[in-house]
Amino acid sequence: MRDAYGTVTMLPERAATVDLGALVSNARSIAARIAPSRLMTVLKADAYGHGAAAAGRALAGAGFRDFGVAHVSEALELREAVGPEPRILAWLHTSATDFAAALRAGIELGVNGSELDAILEAARATGCTPRLHAIVDTGLGRNGAVSETWDAFFARLAELSASGRAVVVGIMSHLAVADEPGRPETDLQRQAFERAVETAGRHGLSPLQRHLANTPASLVREDLRYEMCRVGLGLYGLSPFSDRAAEEFGLRPVMTLSTRVSLVKRVEEGHGASYGLLWTAPTPTHLGLVPLGYADGIPRVAEGLRVRIGGVDQPVVGRIAMDQMIVDLGADESAMDLLGADAVVFGAGGQPVEDVAAAAGTINYEIVTRISPRVERVWTEPEGLGALVGPSGSRVFAAETAEEMRALGARLGQVLEPGDVLVLTGDLGAGKTTLTQGIAEGLGVSGRVTSPTFVLARVHPNDPEGPRPGGPDLVHVDAYRLGDEGGLDGLALEDTAHSSVTVVEWGEHLPAGLGTRTVRVRIGRAGAPDTVTEADGTLDFGSDDAAADPRTISVSLDAPAAAAGREESQND
Ligand SMILES: *Cc1c(COP(=O)(O)O)cnc(C)c1O
Repeated sequence: MRDAYGTVTMLPERAATVDLGALVSNARSIAARIAPSRLMTVLKADAYGHGAAAAGRALAGAGFRDFGVAHVSEALELREAVGPEPRILAWLHTSATDFAAALRAGIELGVNGSELDAILEAARATGCTPRLHAIVDTGLGRNGAVSETWDAFFARLAELSASGRAVVVGIMSHLAVADEPGRPETDLQRQAFERAVETAGRHGLSPLQRHLANTPASLVREDLRYEMCRVGLGLYGLSPFSDRAAEEFGLRPVMTLSTRVSLVKRVEEGHGASYGLLWTAPTPTHLGLVPLGYADGIPRVAEGLRVRIGGVDQPVVGRIAMDQMIVDLGADESAMDLLGADAVVFGAGGQPVEDVAAAAGTINYEIVTRISPRVERVWTEPEGLGALVGPSGSRVFAAETAEEMRALGARLGQVLEPGDVLVLTGDLGAGKTTLTQGIAEGLGVSGRVTSPTFVLARVHPNDPEGPRPGGPDLVHVDAYRLGDEGGLDGLALEDTAHSSVTVVEWGEHLPAGLGTRTVRVRIGRAGAPDTVTEADGTLDFGSDDAAADPRTISVSLDAPAAAAGREESQND
């Protein structure tokens, strides 16, 4: 198979291949659909089997800043993976939950009331102030306070808030039947949720960040999106609806489960297959052995399952065993050639995971989350700056016109990540501002980019309607007048460098350790000495005969710096 770089890779014997590019693209398309509501990406259950650390890093790298998990233990692992900045919410606890560790790691907590004493005890022990989301039961009957107790619940939260012992950040509930849009209970849940919000408000708890929608509600119920949606399944490119495919929503499946055929043999009529001998060959045929079984997460009950081998969906025959299953490859002798062939159970190059779920009488959620740890995860990275500059970390581009310079900027803008600091050098009039305008376009930020000469640093916020909703802001800096050292301190770039893309013109003397990755861009020109002045910063190519005076743009990545400046505490 090919990874994001077009390299042919050899997969392990049994692999769940996770396309992180598809994950990020799904998150972007859901974020765009629900804007201006925020997207909380739900990474519980090891990101539904896809690998929470890898998924979290990919999403954080793409600018997503709100994560949700069920357990504090999951939140702590995710914190290790994504660093201190992103917000992580955990909502399902017991008396054995390590709230002290949660508070120290800056984890926000969903609460139903019963765990408040334990959380306050942990707050006293750690000196951290808990950040809480009130969970209300609006009909699901699972976690959350029931309506009869709301007055007491919100009175208590209000008292904690007023005394500064906790910050009440949000209010949340979970839907029971949003995957069946025709059912009336979702509207009843909405009404109950609004009553809970009102009750909280009467106790002085407002405004709260309201979040109710899961994947199905986020996709089809605009009225339920409030300030934030908690989306799991859709991120992984799967549809929660029995009658609507994920592609209808612009989502691509992220996981592919595959292995290789480990044995092919011809058997005579009457030969049995697997435990119980429930199937015997009706005619002479070829049996293929597929080394995936219920210990790998293929449900034993999935009779009628098919596995794609040599481009054909071949039927599984006999019982699915712990380690393996048997497919009937048919009577044709050519079946013998399938020894070692790819066998795809679901995903790219195979049937959709929903077919496996149907064979097992369950839902897509359960199939992907239950692929066991015995199956190796292989993550293919989203196309990023690394792919653009290539493995040497450095590449020279050419631009003959201002349009080409801008287009190169846009390509960079599409792949720059929060924490990137781009040091931009080149003579006056070389095209630095034109390149930055392209970067702004690729990043999808608002505000017109001009030379920042007299402003020193200008922030262009991410545009939720742009190509990278939820992506980083652009901070555009001119270090020309700041001299060799020290002057940048006054701009407090450290405050934004980890969450934004920072472009520093004339930044050769930038102190090391700003941001997480330094990208050096030098614009050179082969032609005559400067005849163009950077009057308003947009006329870089000015009256020059641009075609006769092409620019070269060298882009190089500094070796990743140690995660300097990343250890600041999340507690407040
Ligand atoms: C799992 C879960 C979600 C995400 O549900 P999806 O249908 O996968 O989007 C949201 N909220 C809560 C409370 C959950 O437990």
